[in-house]
Order: sequence, then C-alpha cells, then structure tokens
Amino acid sequence: MTLTKDRIKETLAAVSHPEGGDILSRGCIINIAVCDTDASVRLCYTQGMGAEAPQPPRETLSSLAKLIDTLVRSLAKEHNLDPFGLVVEFVDHAGNPVLRLKSDPKSSAESAPAPKQAPQNASASGVPGVDNIIAVGAGKGGVGKSTVAVNLAIALARKGRRVGILDGDIYGPSLPTMLGLQTLDQNVIDSVLQPFMVHGVKSITMGKLVETDKPLIWRGPMAHGAFHQLIERTEWGELDDLIIDLPPGTGDVPLTLAQSVKLAGAVIVCTPQKVAQDDAVRATKMFESLGVDVLGAVENMSYFIGDDGKEYDIFGRGGAQQMAQRLGIPFLGSIPINTSLRQNMDSGNPTKNFDPATAGGEQLPKSLEQLADQLIAQLTLATMHRGAKTPTLSIS
Ligand code: ADP
Repeated sequence: MTLTKDRIKETLAAVSHPEGGDILSRGCIINIAVCDTDASVRLCYTQGMGAEAPQPPRETLSSLAKLIDTLVRSLAKEHNLDPFGLVVEFVDHAGNPVLRLKSDPKSSAESAPAPKQAPQNASASGVPGVDNIIAVGAGKGGVGKSTVAVNLAIALARKGRRVGILDGDIYGPSLPTMLGLQTLDQNVIDSVLQPFMVHGVKSITMGKLVETDKPLIWRGPMAHGAFHQLIERTEWGELDDLIIDLPPGTGDVPLTLAQSVKLAGAVIVCTPQKVAQDDAVRATKMFESLGVDVLGAVENMSYFIGDDGKEYDIFGRGGAQQMAQRLGIPFLGSIPINTSLRQNMDSGNPTKNFDPATAGGEQLPKSLEQLADQLIAQLTLATMHRGAKTPTLSIS
C-alpha cells in the first residue's frame, strides 16, 4: 500500500487546532505533496480567521509542526518508508513562510548517522564589505536565469537593501543589454573596476571588458581567472547582497565558480516543464554537493495572462513548485510569461517591470516583489542554520 495524500490528510484530522476544531476541518491544510520517500505539508494556522488575524506565538506553531511531523512519520513507517524526508511549513494568508520544520530522513534513530554535507571549499573566499553572495543558477540556458537575477537584484534594492550584481555568465554576458549599459564606459581607478550604478544596483559584467560580438572561447582556468578578477577587483563598497548570475548548466565552469566564492546560498531558476526540472534537480544537487544552501527555486515562464485576462498554463504551471517540494527546497515564487518583461529587458529598462503601467498589469510587479520577500526570508533562515549545530530537526 502506498502512502497517499489522502492518508496523510485523514491522519492530520486528528490534530486539534488550539482555537477549536481540528486543522483539517478548519481548512488549515493548504497542500500536501508526497513523492516516494519524501513529503511536504503546507498549512496556514489563521485560515478562515480573516487576513488581519495575527500569527500565534512561535512556540504554538513549533509544537503543532512537531506533532504533525511525528504523526506523518509514524504513518510513513507503517508503509515501510523509513528513512522518510518530511517538510512541515506554516505560511501566512499571503503564502509567506512563517515557520518551517524539516526533518532529515537519514538521521532517524534507527538509521545510520547522516553523512555530513561537504563544507564549501575551504579556499572559497568572501568579498570584504559584502554580507550575502547569492548565486543564481539554472540547469540549462534560456530559462530566464539572467532575467530573474537582474529583477531579483532590483527588487531587493527597492526594499532598501544595498545590492550588486555580477554577470558571471562570462561566455554570454546579458547584463549590458538587460541593464542598458551599452553607452556607458567602464571606469577603472588604480586597477580597480568601478561598478555601474544603474536601476538602483551596482553592476559589473565581462560584456563591458571584451567585445561582445566575438565569442569567448575561454577554457576552465581562464574563465575562473576572469571571474575572480571581476569579483575581487571591483569596488563594491558595502553591500547587503551581491547577486551572481552564473553560467548555465552543471558543467565545469559553473561548478568551479560556485565553489570558489563563499556563498550565502543559491537560487535555482527553472521553467515548469519536466525536462527543465530534471536539469534543475541536477543544479540543486550540484550546489548541495558543494555544501551550498539552496535558498529556493523560482518558476519562470510559469503561465501566460491573455488579453482576455485569463491565465493560461502553457508549460504546465506548478512543475517547479512540485520539484521544490520533492527536493525539500523552498519555493520562492513564479514569474508569468510577459511580453512587457521581455521588451523591458531587451531595451535595458528593467525598472519598468515594477510599474503596472509598463509591466503589462499588476501581476509582474507583484510576483517580483514577492520573490524578493521570500528570498530575504530564506536568507535569514540560512544565516540561522549556519549558526546552528547540525540539528536533527531544524525549525525556521
Ligand atoms: P538565460 O539567462 O537562462 O539564458 P535569459 O534571462 O537571457 O535566459 O532569457 C532568455 C530570453 O527570454 C530573454 O529574451 C528574456 O527577455 C526572455 N524571458 C525570460 N523570462 C521571461 C518571461 N517570464 N516572459 C517573457 N520573456 C522572458
């Protein structure tokens, strides 16, 4: 007998809600996903209590999450699923994470101790003055990795953070076009590159140092050297976040680059189709094998809003979210297919993506803002995790 969503749901009907009734009949269970030896349960404590209802104390959610974890885990055991990976997540009315409990499948009492995740390369270095270095990667090209990197950087800056973006896609730099840098000259003072300050973010790209119409046929070590020059010999100043747009794929170059800088975490961009997810899974595994926290997945080109105002799921919306649940990584949000977005990126006007009048409606600015909120939340959690001592259960 396989473990199904319905079986989990039935079991959770036994969990009382502190304010009366049980969590199932109150509609608190937003989503349950099961895949082989992993499952995730997403809940909203304040469901049915109105959008203004305050969240309960953290301890309340924490004990509920632990209870749910115990119940689902023993159910999984009955189904001979042990070890079993489980994520229990509470969100608020807007879908923002409030608390997340992830139990490590390999650390249950009966099983062998979990193998320690390889720490990030000891020679990896940070950048003085920069708090978080965040890599944006994708399993394959063309999924909108650079588009997401640029828009995330601007969205974070619009929230008052000091943000830089580095075009690490040295083979096919997109930043000159996407940020509208073509007419600007690269300044160098005392052999130090001066970043461009446009759209509220500091940026640097190989595209301003080489002729962009000539293909770059650098091999690994040269690419590595060039990347390091960009990151280390740039006057970044004080930054909260430095976004690195990595080259696509899981080949030698993205791997070496991701390994050589001390990352706060990585964001994986993918489109909803199954083939794109397979590549994104590989990218996620690459980061995890390097000991880099995966801060979350973004689903790009998720759906299309037609002139009739209806949403069309062209590529099978929700695929990346399911993938994220399967892998036990956070889902940061989705970005629709949007003609204005493409035009704004092609013309170097990404700021227009944040104004409904120039972004083809309200959906895109809203999606981008939510992405930034989720990323900030995950960064905070990643910082907390780094400080924690390899717990069996991590509550965030
Ligand atoms: P990657 O970095 O993964 O190779 P890009 O970010 O360069 O991909 O995007 C490829 C093309 O797709 C660009 O022309 C970009 O404007 C367009 N694009 C990306 N995301 C969207 C979207 N959500 N809606 C419409 N066009 C998009």
